Amino acid sequence: MTFPTHRPRRLRRTEALRGLVRETQLSTHGLVYPMFACPGANVRTEVSSMPGIYQQSPDQIVEECREVAGLGIPAVILFGLPEHKDETASEAFAAHGAVQRSIEAIRKAKLDLIVITDVCLCEYTSHGHCGVIQNGEVANDATLKILADAALSHARAGADIVAPSDMMDGRVAAIRQKLDENRLENVAILSYAAKYCSGFYGPFREAAQSAPQFGDRRSYQMDPANAREALREVALDIEEGADMIMVKPALPYLDVIQRVRERFDVPVGAYNVSGEFAMVKAAARNGWLDEKRVVLEILTGIQRAGASIILTYHAKDAARWLNRC
Ligand SMILES: [Zn+2]
Repeated sequence: MTFPTHRPRRLRRTEALRGLVRETQLSTHGLVYPMFACPGANVRTEVSSMPGIYQQSPDQIVEECREVAGLGIPAVILFGLPEHKDETASEAFAAHGAVQRSIEAIRKAKLDLIVITDVCLCEYTSHGHCGVIQNGEVANDATLKILADAALSHARAGADIVAPSDMMDGRVAAIRQKLDENRLENVAILSYAAKYCSGFYGPFREAAQSAPQFGDRRSYQMDPANAREALREVALDIEEGADMIMVKPALPYLDVIQRVRERFDVPVGAYNVSGEFAMVKAAARNGWLDEKRVVLEILTGIQRAGASIILTYHAKDAARWLNRC
């Protein structure tokens, strides 16, 4: 029996009916707002390709965090910029680094906010790669100790969750071990398990000043053509001790998010990255798209695919819109 017995339009007649049968309820609960911490005081520089997003010194980070918490967004993720870059990313684990000082300032302000930190070396290395270079290559095992030291410094400063994004093999285990040895067993790991080598990171590299100075990241980030390999990466990271995993970017990889969600039982996050954000902003500025409608549709799509945690530069706008409706 089909038409005229079945008429799907019956349940679309009014907003109340549509609300009753809505399968995906977008809310602020899963949103994470990414922020860029830089050295100094009173610094607030807008990233030109990311309107409304700033590089900020710790004192300014705290002020924006106050606003973020007030909007009902539960978490921020911090990226750091160093005073000086060098071959071995020594500022990545400096106790006085911009990220470490920002975490301490957020803790001191007693904000009701989960603090996640990105753990990677590319913002801190003079060559812009996510690991140290040996014989012209990004050396996997030599990088692990520095990543673990960086994660430890974030955890000591008060981070709730550390999020390694470097894509070295074995980093989750190295970080877990280092945290546990230092009695920081309650600090969780959100692993960027399936991070693709993507053109959508363009604006981020301006924000984090992290473009590689030679070569590219194809020897450690994933090939955009591979989905089965993502499942393997996720399985390995969970085995090594990841509490949550992430797929990055989000929009070109919704199928990967869905497959990961179906296969694994840990919380799944997705990163709605800088290029995805910049495209919407640019089109909205030209009057080509209705920004609110498109942003809420994008976030709903990412959640529908299976991500319960969404890292997005749209978080503050989305929270304002969601709080109103
Ligand atoms: Zn990196």
